[in-house]
Amino acid sequence: MPTRASRHIVQNEPLLFEVSSPGKQGCQLPPLDVPAVELAGARAEVPDFPEISELEVIRHFTRLSTWNYGVDTGLYPLGSCTMKYNPRINEAVTRLEGLGDGHPLQSAALARGALRIMDLLAQYLLEITGMEAITLQPAAGAQGELTGILLVREALAARGDARRKVLIPDSAHGTNPATAAIAGYQVENLKSNAAGTVDMASLEKQMTGEVAALMLTNPNTLGIFEQDIHRIADLVHERGGMLYMDGANMNALVGRSRPGDFGVDVMHLNLHKTFSTPHGGGGPGAGPVAVKRELEPYLPIPALTRRNGEPALDYDRPRSIGRVRAFYGNFGMFTRALAYIMANGCDGLKQTTEDAVLNANYLRKKLEGAYALPYPTPSMHEVVFSDAAQAPHGVRTGDVAKRLIDYGFHPYTVSFPLVVRGAMMIEPTESASQAEMDEFVEAMLAIAEEAKTQPELVTGAPHTTKIGRLDEVAAARQPRLRWQPSR
Ligand SMILES: *Cc1c(COP(=O)(O)O)cnc(C)c1O
Repeated sequence: MPTRASRHIVQNEPLLFEVSSPGKQGCQLPPLDVPAVELAGARAEVPDFPEISELEVIRHFTRLSTWNYGVDTGLYPLGSCTMKYNPRINEAVTRLEGLGDGHPLQSAALARGALRIMDLLAQYLLEITGMEAITLQPAAGAQGELTGILLVREALAARGDARRKVLIPDSAHGTNPATAAIAGYQVENLKSNAAGTVDMASLEKQMTGEVAALMLTNPNTLGIFEQDIHRIADLVHERGGMLYMDGANMNALVGRSRPGDFGVDVMHLNLHKTFSTPHGGGGPGAGPVAVKRELEPYLPIPALTRRNGEPALDYDRPRSIGRVRAFYGNFGMFTRALAYIMANGCDGLKQTTEDAVLNANYLRKKLEGAYALPYPTPSMHEVVFSDAAQAPHGVRTGDVAKRLIDYGFHPYTVSFPLVVRGAMMIEPTESASQAEMDEFVEAMLAIAEEAKTQPELVTGAPHTTKIGRLDEVAAARQPRLRWQPSR
């Protein structure tokens, strides 16, 4: 009996080991025309190695690739991650022969174009942030945080005022307290007020002579701009501390407001969020750290500098914290970010920011009747709802997120920030069209209705994927990462 496909062939893909049949192979070598040599220690046979044809290999991996969901297939509203479209001009530029084939060990004299690119990107990022010096070296936001806090530690030690605490609001990304702890600081939690922002009275009390820095995200992870930012900065400075800004949310500010102008001493940027370079698959990122003058001497080596007006690298910086990353950072991210900045231009970047904020507020308005809004404060580029209206039916934020998959959307960010019980954090970015957002709204409203009338449909989701709901605890605690032959 011929076997028949019971599901779509693309969804019905076995492991290579399972389709193996003895004697099949994917290549044909010409007959040996030299004497054969025995390789010492070489295996004559690899047990259970799949034997398959070239076409089967191609189909296998191509089919698997269609199980992916990415920004190139649909809306990716993962809050805090700014999953915007990566324009293909970025890829074209990054693959230009002289850039794509450059080698980090090339001498500076043979890499002047690359140095100019780094220099130009640095100048743009300083203009955008209002800061005074920058390193492009860190590989991601989290590494940028660590770099930035190490700079603070050095600068305060140089003032003869080493301190032992870092203040972090309860709405912060988990990497902030992790960074402070790894840098040797004691983390102190700063409670948010009813508006979801820094509570000035608490800050007044907690900002003591023991506090090295306040690590603040602005807009914060509730998508709310810290309106008191000038007073916050002044207070931190009066008490001898420094203001670190987590710049992951710069997509709400670029071209409209500059951290350097509102009192920030040190901040990181996520090029792979704000400036469109692709991320999300654990791929390369870049977390440049921009600082005010006082922190400049401590920047990682090699530092970007100018010699006779030409961009150059400076290795001779006795007060530097040292290297934080091999070579100069993820160069491919620099070309992408620079292409993005230059293609948009000043007006384009401003428009991007405004569209991102407009889109988040569009979704907020359309969904606020069906989902609870824990904070009434206006939203910037992302909006945080909670599952408070669904929880009485036994439906939680994770269930709604899984059900969204059935409707063809990537889930929003689940259960973060932690200050909101059952958080649903939605960030459409400027990439989403109104039509696409309307489809998303329709799906979210339909799920809100299902949560009331057939909650099991939601709590059992997803129903349309190859693999249904996983036991997430077991998947984390007892992962099965390898196929084992059945014998
Ligand atoms: C993404 C993010 C980070 C960490 O950045 P990575 O590049 O993922 O290391 C830190 N803080 C906030 C608010 C973020 O959204």
